[in-house]
Amino acid sequence: MHTTRLQLIEGCLLGCAVGDAIGLPYEGMSTRRARRFARLPLEQRFLLGYGMVSDDTDHSVFVAQAMLRGGGDVEKFRACLAWRFRLWFLCLPAGIGLATLRGILRLWLGMRRSGVFSAGNGPSMRSAIIGATWSHDTKRRRAHVHASTLLTHTDPKAFVGALAVAEVAAQLVAGLWKQKPDVETFMALLASVSADTSWQKVVDGMRAACTSPDPMGFALKQFGTRQGISGYVLHSVPFALLAWYHHFGDYRATIETITQAGGDVDTVAAIAGALAGATSGTDGIPQTWLKHLTDWPHSTGYMRELATGLAACDSPQPNSPEQEPPAVNTRFSPWLFPRGILFTTVVLLHGLRRLLPPY
Ligand SMILES: [Mg+2]
Repeated sequence: MHTTRLQLIEGCLLGCAVGDAIGLPYEGMSTRRARRFARLPLEQRFLLGYGMVSDDTDHSVFVAQAMLRGGGDVEKFRACLAWRFRLWFLCLPAGIGLATLRGILRLWLGMRRSGVFSAGNGPSMRSAIIGATWSHDTKRRRAHVHASTLLTHTDPKAFVGALAVAEVAAQLVAGLWKQKPDVETFMALLASVSADTSWQKVVDGMRAACTSPDPMGFALKQFGTRQGISGYVLHSVPFALLAWYHHFGDYRATIETITQAGGDVDTVAAIAGALAGATSGTDGIPQTWLKHLTDWPHSTGYMRELATGLAACDSPQPNSPEQEPPAVNTRFSPWLFPRGILFTTVVLLHGLRRLLPPY
């Protein structure tokens, strides 16, 4: 199947959103409980058969808006993203990560070094779209991932995880991995991301999973606990990458495997969903999942609009003065505030539901 750069970037944004929305009802469940709640085949189940997105998608949208505003200028990108985080915090987002919360408070205090020492998966959940956008520009890709990471997280592991996700997305959108790469090609790319010993150990563990008879069972033992896959970047990123790789080209199977693992399901599904969407384009996402994702103002229609702008960021000199600014609305929507109240209410109802069986 021939897919264009636009379809792959759109698939990356929408794939992140759909993975996030499908995974959300099972977030924080143990592996055992997630398997009892997440009966297959999955459908949107967050609110009466419809899906809403969480921080993972909101952040990816903010990153997309900031890239469009920055036009390739990293400092401008950083400043735009920082303002979106500050304003988003005022919308009282449910389920915000602790490091992200502290990072944003530091931004409000005017601190330039806003990130805190944490190896959470926050920067990884918003980095696939960076890799997809700057798929042909290694330097710019890296600089954008770095700037996005440091706003909230300073542990080098958080950057390495985020960069690994971006590098895979870049390969896909650049058309280098139209077919499933062999294990050694995949591992060589991951190993090249950082020489850090803890990362190299992760790559070794991933290689072992890929060559085992039950790759995802192995991955769950290697990177998970009975509580599922944690929000630690060196757990969530390798598991998301393995789910994407094992089910290469099969969006539904990728997300279903992740929901069955439990833990930080929405974020792991958002990361793997972004990559699976960048593999097959929007057409690879189950259409009922997409149709029943009815969030607002970060709607699927708005994300398609953003993708159009991002696909045009590919010119050899994205910030050349003669380039027309993309005609895409990149403003922070004030509607996120009332929407946040509805979202938090539904999250609380899910919390109450979980007091009931199945246990
Ligand atoms: Mg989330």
